[in-house]
Amino acid sequence: MASNESTSITRRDTFKGAAAAGAAAAGLSVLAAKQAEAQVQDYDAIVIGTGFGGTIATIALSGRGKSVLILERGTFWVTPETLGVPTAAGNPVVQWAKSNNSGVQYWPRPDHTLGLIDLLNNRYDQSNPYGLYNYRMFGAVHILTASGVGGGSLIYCNVNLEATQEVRDRLGLKGLDYKRTRSYMEKYRGKLSNIVSKIPLPPGVDPAKLGAQLDPAQDPAKLANKGYLLLDRSRALREAAGLVSKQLGINMPWSPLDLSITEYVHPSPPDYTAPEADTGHTFCERQGRCLLGCLPQARHTLNKTLFNWVFKQQNTGVTLSSESEVRTIRRVGDSYEVAYIDRRGESVDGVPRRVRAKQVFLAAGVLGTVEILLRSRRDVGLALSDRIGSGFSTNGDFGALAVGTKMIKDGKPVLGADGNPAKASVYPTRGPINTCDVRFAIDGRHYTIEDAGIPSMFARVVQLALKDRKALLTLAEPASFVGGQTTANIGSLVGSFRDRIEAIFKPRDPTKDRHSTEAELIDDVFFFNAMGEDEANGVFSLRGDELDLGWPADKPISKQACFSKVEQIMQQLSAAMGAEYTPLPTWEGWPGVFDERTLVCTHPLGGCRIGPTMAEGAVNEFGQLYDGSKKASDPTAVHPGFYVVDGSTIPGALAANPSLTISAQALKVVERAVGPLPNL
Ligand SMILES: Cc1cc2nc3c(=O)[nH]c(=O)nc-3n(C[C@H](O)[C@H](O)[C@H](O)COP(=O)(O)OP(=O)(O)OC[C@H]3O[C@@H](n4cnc5c(N)ncnc54)[C@H](O)[C@@H]3O)c2cc1C
Ligand code: SF4
Repeated sequence: MASNESTSITRRDTFKGAAAAGAAAAGLSVLAAKQAEAQVQDYDAIVIGTGFGGTIATIALSGRGKSVLILERGTFWVTPETLGVPTAAGNPVVQWAKSNNSGVQYWPRPDHTLGLIDLLNNRYDQSNPYGLYNYRMFGAVHILTASGVGGGSLIYCNVNLEATQEVRDRLGLKGLDYKRTRSYMEKYRGKLSNIVSKIPLPPGVDPAKLGAQLDPAQDPAKLANKGYLLLDRSRALREAAGLVSKQLGINMPWSPLDLSITEYVHPSPPDYTAPEADTGHTFCERQGRCLLGCLPQARHTLNKTLFNWVFKQQNTGVTLSSESEVRTIRRVGDSYEVAYIDRRGESVDGVPRRVRAKQVFLAAGVLGTVEILLRSRRDVGLALSDRIGSGFSTNGDFGALAVGTKMIKDGKPVLGADGNPAKASVYPTRGPINTCDVRFAIDGRHYTIEDAGIPSMFARVVQLALKDRKALLTLAEPASFVGGQTTANIGSLVGSFRDRIEAIFKPRDPTKDRHSTEAELIDDVFFFNAMGEDEANGVFSLRGDELDLGWPADKPISKQACFSKVEQIMQQLSAAMGAEYTPLPTWEGWPGVFDERTLVCTHPLGGCRIGPTMAEGAVNEFGQLYDGSKKASDPTAVHPGFYVVDGSTIPGALAANPSLTISAQALKVVERAVGPLPNL
């Protein structure tokens, strides 16, 4: 037994399956191996993960007379209420899940600070493998992903955005059919909508020309507001980008985003037939909590797609094993043996199981896929390209705030009655999390800046943090927050509760923020969400049983040019809003908590990247995994039937939200491997 195998077995004793798989690989007695062999169940295909790539693979394989097993680490997550009606009795997804031995959990509910406690309880880690939010802190970069049936779609912000042709060419991404991918999105998930207005707009109204179109009389008072029905923060970004674009002489067009959310359209045009996929949705109510669970169920999450197109259909041949964490994949002749832990029982330790198939679609997301492959190479000898683990990109993700937004006219602040610049509320708690973007290029490199919402449950923490940045330490130490222990870090929160209770016995003072709603607490805070082109030079490795991530010492991630460039533009946009540019606490650094210039990444890419040969990549352009055992004789040799179909294959930053591109690449791979998706 290699020394690192024994380390992995003993270091993490909750994962007994790792021990079983490792022991099998290491060669137990012939008798034990034969017994284990007899327990292996065979399928035609195994899909690992149910995010964007996994769902496309499952739909393609379903109903073709093949036996297909889906292994997904997480549980189902559903809305706790449908417009006030409890779902448990009637929600067909809940009924199906329960009768198919799958766990169901409910989104965090309250829209105030208590919801934050629910949220923290829903974190994913080794002690809570059923959690939804997987927040991994890798030194210079923190990465947030989801764990659940539906993968990243459960917590994502619904944005469908293409990478520019120039970026795709630079990355060598060939043959992506965005048109077909959009058709897939609308056919299997629901119609894409532009939601930049406070209320749903009649069909045919162009939000970019909103004021004029809605007011045929061209009332100057309304038109001066340049689109008075736009969400305030959508308008703020549009106007600020207009100013900065002129100042810098850079083209920065503003556009509403294509969102996987159902928008209310009334009256429907006579020839309009709702896509079949839309029938299960209601309409966006601008509740601003997309990544925390949409109460009206307007978002097109992949748990619904899988339920509608696969799980509730007859004779699909597909079996879902949720709460099943894949540990290793071993090649056995022309088949693959997948070892996993089935945690559908009482104990989080779970039961180790093994299954086999000739086709494997690995779609466990960047972190899941790279971890499984690195562990498989180390523990069960899966031969891989030497490039495995390298080429990780943050997608240039960068966030920051503009605090204290003001009314601006002709580039200058408008003065209020008191002679000071008048406030302009942008209400980040309302509307979908992302509504619009500005896209531009500097020195040939591409950037996207979007507005971002701040859900109400974060409002008090954000407001306190802006007043007293130390209060945010409560987020870094969830245990002290959830347990209610009074520490110096939550002094501000406690003070706020105390003020509130004391106020019961005092005359009311309307100037105090204790009378504010969550929306008002942070109404003048604008949140930027940006993407750019980093150098995609992060390298994953295994430390014990866990992934580790680092960068070459001479090219650390936080010093890469894309971040300083985008920060400069955000500073100008903040000034154009009359506000103060304010970095996130992770970027600013907190002694003892975050190092300075720590990035928060929600769009991880790469690690198992596409390359023309195994000298440049870990998979070929069709997602086929290179066979490292043949590196000297045939640098393009692949493991037959083994496909990687998730964000780990994207070979660099897209400077755009990635799910549309990940889906386009997955569609290309899956349709070649299995055949065209039905009905597309
Ligand atoms: C807060 C947030 C907002 C975002 N908003 C957007 C947006 O608006 N637009 C956009 O394009 N992108 C957005 N993203 C990014 C997007 O969610 C991801 O790019 C996308 O989900 C990646 O898809 P994937 O198929 O690679 O993997 P994922 O969607 O991450 O799916 C991986 C699946 O594999 C499962 N898994 C992992 N390990 C194992 C294992 N060992 N065994 C079994 N199963 C496993 C996971 O539970 C998960 O279901 C957002 C992300 C976050 C966190
Ligand atoms: S804004 Fe609210 S209602 Fe609209 S999609 Fe997001 S969570 Fe749902």
